[in-house]
Amino acid sequence: MVDPARYAFPDYDALLAVTEVRIDDTPKAWDGEGVLALQPGQRRLAVEFAALDYSAPLQLRYRYRVVGEEDTWHAVEARYRVATLANLAPGDYRIEVEASDRHGRWTGLRLAIPITVQPAWWQRGVFHLALAIGAALLMGGLVRSRTHRLHARQAELERRVAARTAELAATSAALQEKTAELERASLTDALTGLHNRRYLAAHIDADVALCRRRHVDAAARGTPARNADLVFFLIDLDHFKRINDASGHAAGDAVLVQMRQRLSACFRDSDHLVRWGGEEFLVVSRDADRGRAAELAARAVAGVSGQAFALPGGGVQHATCSVGYAALPLQPALPDAHGWADAVALADVALYAAKQAGRDGWVGIEIEGEAPVGADLLRAPQALFAAGRLRVETSLPRDAVHAALAGHDAPGVARAGDRRPVR
Ligand code: GH3
Ligand code: MG
Ligand code: MG
Repeated sequence: MVDPARYAFPDYDALLAVTEVRIDDTPKAWDGEGVLALQPGQRRLAVEFAALDYSAPLQLRYRYRVVGEEDTWHAVEARYRVATLANLAPGDYRIEVEASDRHGRWTGLRLAIPITVQPAWWQRGVFHLALAIGAALLMGGLVRSRTHRLHARQAELERRVAARTAELAATSAALQEKTAELERASLTDALTGLHNRRYLAAHIDADVALCRRRHVDAAARGTPARNADLVFFLIDLDHFKRINDASGHAAGDAVLVQMRQRLSACFRDSDHLVRWGGEEFLVVSRDADRGRAAELAARAVAGVSGQAFALPGGGVQHATCSVGYAALPLQPALPDAHGWADAVALADVALYAAKQAGRDGWVGIEIEGEAPVGADLLRAPQALFAAGRLRVETSLPRDAVHAALAGHDAPGVARAGDRRPVR
């Protein structure tokens, strides 16, 4: 008689064994010793195991975990005792498997299967290091090349800016030069190279101011003003029309051109030499003394008549000139009473008288007395002369000069040619 209820099933902890290993669904022979190695490119590992207890195999429970990956236990059915791993990263792992006995109690025996997943060449540290070094070198190279390009670009820009700046500086210098040249040209008479009226207008005011200040200062000190006058010499070539008529306009031009050298020889470099009209010149002697004006006028007259002018054809032309002069201040006791145009007007009266008195000579006029003389009287001086207010110095016959000033021949009638009626 068998009483099944009294049957004592043996209680023992069954060993666990690996029953099959498949890599990528291909069975792999493995003797359970050593480390299970997955080569690069092998992705799936399935390890089948079993507890060696066949009394009630379907009552056994199993679980496994992959140490190194997640460490949590996975329970598996007794019918399907497989630990499956896929796509493991390179590294070392350990599959641990446990089983229970037929009563469901974990036996405490554990199967451990060490696994190593070989890295592909591109997963190795050396490769990563090389990659990092390569990347660093590449970055360095890129940075260097970019820096180099930037430097080159900057150098190029600097070179261009420098070139442009130099160009601009050159243009600016050329422009300044051109402007100065134009300025000079606009202030210069084209034929003779002497200054023109514009030049005088631009410079004379400062001279007049200085002249006045010196006279005012001298008066304040109670001493005579020395070398403080401005003497205006009007120099007109005599019968210039005849030179043109007889020898041609080119000959007249040649005489005019040579007048520059003649005048320069007579006057100081600091004096203003101006071509005032066609064959008429105005010289303003600066820092001058009116007491020496007659001597200068005589030098100018002699400078023209003393030597013949060379003509373009090879011949020579004799010429004379007449000079009229007046000194500013016209009335030294009233330094502010007259401007430079008044002095030119009085010099013009003197020149007219010189022409009337025979030419090739000079006439200088000063105003006598301290009563103020208006500008209109200066330009029509008969009344002043009649009143004895004009003191005349001349190299010409005094009677003839006086006759001219007395108004027997009024200015503007006898010398109607190129003379401007009023200045
Ligand atoms: P006067 O002694 O009274 O001054 O007689 P003049 O012939 O010199 O004076 P007038 O005013 O009658 O004539 C001046 C002449 O000067 C007239 C003009 O043709 C000439 N002239 C003016 N400018 C020039 C010039 O640039 N070149 C030449 N060749 N002649 C000029
Ligand atoms: Mg003349
Ligand atoms: Mg003239």
